[in-house]
Amino acid sequence: MSIPTSQSPDIIKTDIAIIGGGNAGITLASKLKYQNALVFEPKTPEDRDVSWALWATGNDQKDIASATRGRWKQWRLVDHNHEILHNSNEYYYTSLSSADYLHYCEQQLSPNVGLVRETVENIISHGSGGTFTASGQQYYADHIFDSRPAKMDKAGLKQHFLGIEIRTKKPLKDIEIATLMDFRVDQSRGLHFIYALPFSDRSLLIESTMISTTIEPVDWYKQAIYQWLDGQSIEIEEITREELGIIPMHETTPKDTSLSKIGTSSGAIRLSSGYAFTHIQSQINQLASNIEKGDYRVPQVISGTISTLDKIYNRVLVAEPSLGVTLMMKTAGALDAEGFSRFMLGKATIKDWIKVILAMPKLPFLTQVFRL
Ligand SMILES: Cc1cc2nc3c(=O)[nH]c(=O)nc-3n(C[C@H](O)[C@H](O)[C@H](O)COP(=O)(O)OP(=O)(O)OC[C@H]3O[C@@H](n4cnc5c(N)ncnc54)[C@H](O)[C@@H]3O)c2cc1C
Repeated sequence: MSIPTSQSPDIIKTDIAIIGGGNAGITLASKLKYQNALVFEPKTPEDRDVSWALWATGNDQKDIASATRGRWKQWRLVDHNHEILHNSNEYYYTSLSSADYLHYCEQQLSPNVGLVRETVENIISHGSGGTFTASGQQYYADHIFDSRPAKMDKAGLKQHFLGIEIRTKKPLKDIEIATLMDFRVDQSRGLHFIYALPFSDRSLLIESTMISTTIEPVDWYKQAIYQWLDGQSIEIEEITREELGIIPMHETTPKDTSLSKIGTSSGAIRLSSGYAFTHIQSQINQLASNIEKGDYRVPQVISGTISTLDKIYNRVLVAEPSLGVTLMMKTAGALDAEGFSRFMLGKATIKDWIKVILAMPKLPFLTQVFRL
């Protein structure tokens, strides 16, 4: 690797250092065209291949097309009583391979940007930059952007899941529909649903997802997946991939408060849903264009109002977990496909918000508003 920096015998100097080459870090690195920069990431894309999903329009495809594994204009939420089916004209629910996306960004790096597959340590910040080491080598950067995941609160609300990707014995039905939430599973330990994405008529991703404060044993999620598959008469020919995830649904504490944060550790994640991809993209696009103008401040992409509303929503979920299914079904039921996509993307109109607020049970929300 050639490092695009000025060097002295002891210390490598660069304009910008990015700690972590995950979604936020490598996206930022790929958009820097004029500055000398280094992005530090110890893991390869394959080490962390998971499924990232988002709502995207036809115009959003440029940077995600090569990583797209599937996209659906129809999606559904199901409980024991009914099914809500959304059919969108504008949005695709889109699932990406994170490894393919990270590879795509790595391939886009300009000659002035280097990727260092090492862990950053011993950071000492000075102003917006600082010094640090990686594999014993010392570095200095005028500006540092830190994307290391923040610390989660053990007792905080989380979305936690286990997913398997399978090849099925027989062709699947309804492969044009993504199942975002099927609540017909064990609800005794918290809000629980199955998420199922048919990538083809023989390939399916199924996740058992919980929204609660306590992580469950691996076999518990697996059992839920097998029971659901049984109920759908889907037989597994082969399990081709497995993924585990824990996403915070509470405010987290950054590893180092003196550095500029990007990505989820900067708060670019919806607390009520765990969706972050689109918010990170929006933050990084704005930041990259600001950097070209000499402005290194990291934009906050989720408004204070949305964060507060998300926190109230989550407080209701913690206080009254048995309401979880009703809240999710009523949110989806109040909106059409376009409104639901906007809502999930943090772009809901006033009309969308009014529809959702009117559909919610009032007392649990008022109780939590007064407790804020
Ligand atoms: C399993 C999983 C599935 C998810 N699915 C979705 C989804 O479907 N849709 C959605 O919108 N969001 C999803 N998210 C949330 C979010 O989009 C992702 O977590 C996303 O990867 C966050 O990007 P990031 O850059 O903030 O953090 P990360 O992608 O986690 O990047 C941080 C990077 O920092 C590196 N790092 C850590 N310490 C150091 C160090 N000392 N030196 C150098 N590098 C270091 C890590 O190796 C890591 O690659 C998911 C999260 C998980 C965990």
